[in-house]
Parts: sequence; C-alpha cells; structure tokens
Amino acid sequence: MAFFKPENIRNIGILAHVDAGKTTLTEQLLYKSGAIRQAGDVNSGTTQTDFLPIERERGITVRASQISLVHNGILINLIDTPGHMDFTGEVERSLPALDAAVLVVSAVEGIQSHTENLWRAMERVGLPVLVFINKLDRAGSRAEELTEAIRTELNANILALQTVKGEETKECAVQTPDDIGERITEVCADFDDGIADAYLSGETPEPGILTAVLRRCVAKRKIIPVLYGAAQLGVGVKELLQAVCELLPSPAETGDAETDAPPAAQVFRIEHDKTMGKIAHVRMYAGSLVSRDAVTVIHPGQAGMRLENTVPDEEAAPVEKISQVRKCNGQRYMDVGEVHAGDIAALCGLSSAKVGDIIGELGEKHRKDYRIAGAFLQVRAAPKEPAELIPLVNALKELAEEDPLIDCRWEKTEREILVSITGEIQLEVLSALLKERYGLEAVFSPPSVIYKETPSKAGDGFDAYTMPKPCWAIVGFRFEPLARGAGVVYDGGHIPSNTCFYRYQNHIRQSFFRSLGQGMLGWEVTDFRATLTCAEHHTIHTHPLDFFVCTPMAVMDGLRNTGTTLLEPFLKMRITAGREYLGKLIAEIGTMRGSFDDPVIREERMTLEAAVPAATSLDFPVRLAAMTGGKAVLSVSFDGYRDVPTELGRICPRRGINPLDRAKWILQARGAIQGELL
Ligand code: GDP
Repeated sequence: MAFFKPENIRNIGILAHVDAGKTTLTEQLLYKSGAIRQAGDVNSGTTQTDFLPIERERGITVRASQISLVHNGILINLIDTPGHMDFTGEVERSLPALDAAVLVVSAVEGIQSHTENLWRAMERVGLPVLVFINKLDRAGSRAEELTEAIRTELNANILALQTVKGEETKECAVQTPDDIGERITEVCADFDDGIADAYLSGETPEPGILTAVLRRCVAKRKIIPVLYGAAQLGVGVKELLQAVCELLPSPAETGDAETDAPPAAQVFRIEHDKTMGKIAHVRMYAGSLVSRDAVTVIHPGQAGMRLENTVPDEEAAPVEKISQVRKCNGQRYMDVGEVHAGDIAALCGLSSAKVGDIIGELGEKHRKDYRIAGAFLQVRAAPKEPAELIPLVNALKELAEEDPLIDCRWEKTEREILVSITGEIQLEVLSALLKERYGLEAVFSPPSVIYKETPSKAGDGFDAYTMPKPCWAIVGFRFEPLARGAGVVYDGGHIPSNTCFYRYQNHIRQSFFRSLGQGMLGWEVTDFRATLTCAEHHTIHTHPLDFFVCTPMAVMDGLRNTGTTLLEPFLKMRITAGREYLGKLIAEIGTMRGSFDDPVIREERMTLEAAVPAATSLDFPVRLAAMTGGKAVLSVSFDGYRDVPTELGRICPRRGINPLDRAKWILQARGAIQGELL
C-alpha cells in the first residue's frame, strides 16, 4: 500500500446498535471503493469483517476488525465495531484509534439504548460523528421522524444533507436538495462570522468555502451531518464515502500525526495468531515504525485508575523487536513493512504488549484516557475433563489478554477459575472460541453479579512494619471518596527519595493497586482518591520487598477507618410494548428496585425507560417475553454502579489471609517472599 500523508488519511469507526446494518454497510463501502469485486452478505455469512465462525453463525460482529480502503486518493481505515452491549468494551477500546465515527441507525428500529450509550461515549471524548440512517427500503422506515428524534433525544445539532425518495420500497433513493447551499449557510452561520455575514445579507457562499467551514464545524462536533441510505441495496453508499472524505477530519487536523518526530503509538487491540504469536494493533501518533525496529513498550496502568505526582519508575520498559508491520483487510493481511504518523497498522513480535500500551514516547497531549465500562457479571469456569484444568486456565488467560473486559482469575486457595463477563452472549462466544481455538470444553456456572465497594467517608490508613527484624517499611495514606464512576486516583504525595527510595515508592503504588482487589466486604474498591502521606525506609533494616508486606496492611487499615459502602451495577432499559402492559411493567420495575421515566405513549405502543439493578433483572428479558407473548422490544445497556444497602447485596468471602490479621499476614508474606511468590 502506498504511503499516505496524514491529510489523506481518515481513521473512522463504524458504530451502531446490533442489527442496524454496520457489517452490511462496511461490505458495501469496500465494494463501492473497488476493494472487493462482490459484496458479501451477512445473511449467507460471506462478509469480509465478520470472520470468527461464531460471528458468521450468529450474524453478529464480536471483534472489532479493521479494513483499509482507498477512495479518490484518500486512505480510509475503517474500524468495524461490535454492536451488542456485551461488547461495549471492544467499542470503547477502539475509540482512541479514531478521528471520527459513522453512527449507523436503523430507520425502522430508531434510537436504541445502546445507540445512546455509544453517543455518550463519543460525546465524552469529543469524537466528531456523521450519522447514517439505514434501511430506508424497509417497511416502517421513518427517516424524517428519526432525524428529528436524533435532534431532540440525543440533543444534537444536526444537518440533514439529503432528501429521501421512495421510502419503504426497493426503489428508495437519496438526493442532494437544490437548496443545500442555503441550508448549510443557515446552520454554519452560528459558528462562522464570514458565513453569518453572507447569511444576513441573503447570499450563499461558494460551495468550496461552505464545505471548508462545515468541515471545521464537524471536526469540533458543533454540527452533526446526517445522510441516508439502504446499505443492503447499495443506496447512499457512494455518497457516504464522499462525505467521509469531504467532511470528517484527517489525523493532520486532529493534531494526532506528527511526521517529523520520534515514533509514538498506542495499542488499541491485541490478537493472537497461530504462526505469528501476538499481534498488536496500533494507532501511530508520530514518526514511523519499520519492520525490525527495536521499540520500548510502556504499560501505563489499567483503565479507571489515574496517577498523580508519582515518582519515575526505575523498572525499565521492555525493548522488543517488531518482526512485521501489517495492514489488515478483514481476513487478509499484507506485510507493508512500515507505518507512518496518522495511520493504523498491526505489529507482530511485541510479546509483552497489552491494550492501552504505549510504544515509543507518547506525549501527554496524544495520550488517550478512555474509560471502559467494566464487566459486571462473573461465572465460575471448569473444564469438562478435570485433567484439562491448566490448559483451560492458560487459554482463558490468553483470551482475557485480547479482551480486557474478560478478566480471568485463578483462585489458588479455592481451586476455581472466575471469569468476569458483560453478558451471556459473551459467554457463548467464549465457549465457541475455547472449542475452536484450543479444542477445550468448559462448563460455566450461571452468572452472578460483581459488586464493588467504596470508602464511605474520608480517613487515614497507616502501618509501621518494623518487627520482627530484619524489616522496615512505614506507609500512610489519606483516602477521600470520589463520585460514582470516577475510578481510583493515586497521588504519590511528593515524598523525597531520601525518606523512601523511588524504587520502594513504586512498590507501594503497585501493592496499593493489588490490594484493592478485596476490600472490607470482599469486593474491588473503587471511586476514591488515595494520597501517600508518609513512606519511610531504613537504610540498614529494609528488606527489598518489605513494602509489599506493609502496604496491604496500611490499605486495609484505611478502609477499616473509612468503612465501605457496597455498590451494585445498574442497567438502563428501554422497553417498547403494547400500552396495555404499562401497569404490569411499572409494578415489575418496582419489584426489581428500579426507577423509571415518564412513559412515552404513541398510539397503541408505549416506550418506558428504566434503571434497574443487574442483580434483580438478570432474567427480566425472559419474563418480559413471557408477559407480552414476545411482542415487546427490549434494549439494555450498562448504566454504572450505585450505592446499595449491604443487606440487599452480597458480601464476598475473603480469599486468602486478610492483612488486618497482622501477625498471620506477616508470617505468610515473609514465607512467600522466601519462596519468591510475591
Ligand atoms: P450489524 O449487526 O449492525 O452488523 O448489521 P448487519 O449488517 O449484520 O445487518 C443486520 C440485518 O439487517 C441483516 O439481515 C441485513 O441483511 C439487514 N440489512 C442491513 N442493511 C439493510 C438495508 O439497508 N435494508 C434492509 N432491508 N435490510 C438491511
């Protein structure tokens, strides 16, 4: 593939609710740009992007895959993303690589709660977006109504660039209206003085000027252009390609492509390949990378945690050699040998790379911090054949590496494998992957809810581990609660290295985060700020690993002092059903401890939005289907964690020894240090 300057690249995500037609649209974009000779069909399983067998079987996209195509001299990197809420993590993790998105909405089903979720995620990161309203040909298509709904429900300043003809028929078509110049002038007048002057004097600026201004407004998310089409029939697809090139920003404009600089890239996806091993998909922010380059791989820490005032980490980041630079074409790879600022590629040979890792030196301004909605369900996994326990643990670990939302923990003391997931479809995919890729059969327990906990008030934690000698480590923290969803902020507190060596301060930080796995109630601790208020070593007595023994005791001491509040995951539901079910549904939501907004009633149907705890609603989809004879439409999305009285939730029994049981903890930790198990 030829070299493209940043101004001639578009890194675009295609986002949508499941079934809106993303895969079909991607296929058509490839076809219309000449990249493939024939458009595949999701219904017969012949598309370029859905290539896990389970995806083809079920007709859903699970893994975000990427495809590059060229249109009018512009390289478009398309990241196809899964639309099912079970896989929100995949979508959010793709966002750092993007400069803009195309949001596909079905003209029939309209805005789903997952659409809103995606919208909020894009809004949060200020991602420019273009809306494509699909399925104009289908009976029930309401393009105009939906356009208005996007304006009001998503609160978007939209600009429809086309009019629609022949809606609800196979002859449907899109047209650019004659007065498009006036329409653009009117909408852009609010954001550009030159256009405002022209508008007030009743003139329409030249198309070139209008496009340039519109493009700037789109890049700043001030205007959201809307286009229409029927992907399956190829209607509106060429126009969409054109709009992507003309209206969506290039990496040169988003400032995320410095050509004359040392290489800098961020990993947004990990894959495993049978022959090549680990493959890291990266977005290049600066410079170039070439096969056989040696690069540093920096692991900046997990999602939901932020570091402030921390000391330099002396542990050198691993240096690894790139063995191949690939561009992906859905299933097919090309070894392109190099990748340049602004582009996307897959790097082979980086065996330590994880999602979010930074390759080379990435300045703060490029570094993306995208929060990932975590998994909120867990299951116990066991092999069908007891002898396959270890292969199963290893396989799950490898899969968890590809998808950080799948967290796999091997609980040695309980001899059980715990897997966190976001939904049952994910579990189905996991089973299929285990079978296909590793030939393993696993049995999963029914899912249960993952609770969390958070400090109830501000407080201090302290421990001085100075006996029995030789040892010396003193650690003190200040804990302060933060808002729900804020995650954990760790403040290193400016402690001088002669009081506590930087090496030890890094041990404290590492050990702090590990200690958060089990709080007072046995759940992960979140949503608070921890400031290191004191840390002290002893030049003679301190054993190299003492801070790993001391820190968990200080953390637990702090949590005992603040007390902790239990948090439970909430789901947002949007239910559309016959209006006769309203009363029953409201009662049902009450029983589930949920709350709801005013129902919207349109003729015989009503739509109800509710927030309900995951714990009480796991079987709601089944109950709803039974109640309405399968005639209700339900869309569900994750809505974050909320407080719950402990008696309505669940306490998780402690695994291993509690650091508050000081004597036992120290004894065990010292034994472990000797066995180098820490
Ligand atoms: P995804 O889940 O968003 O990737 O959606 P798919 O591309 O798999 O499409 C879901 C279903 O909608 C498939 O059966 C498609 O054939 C169908 N579909 C997609 N686009 C259109 C369209 O423009 N018109 C009609 N009538 N059906 C479509």
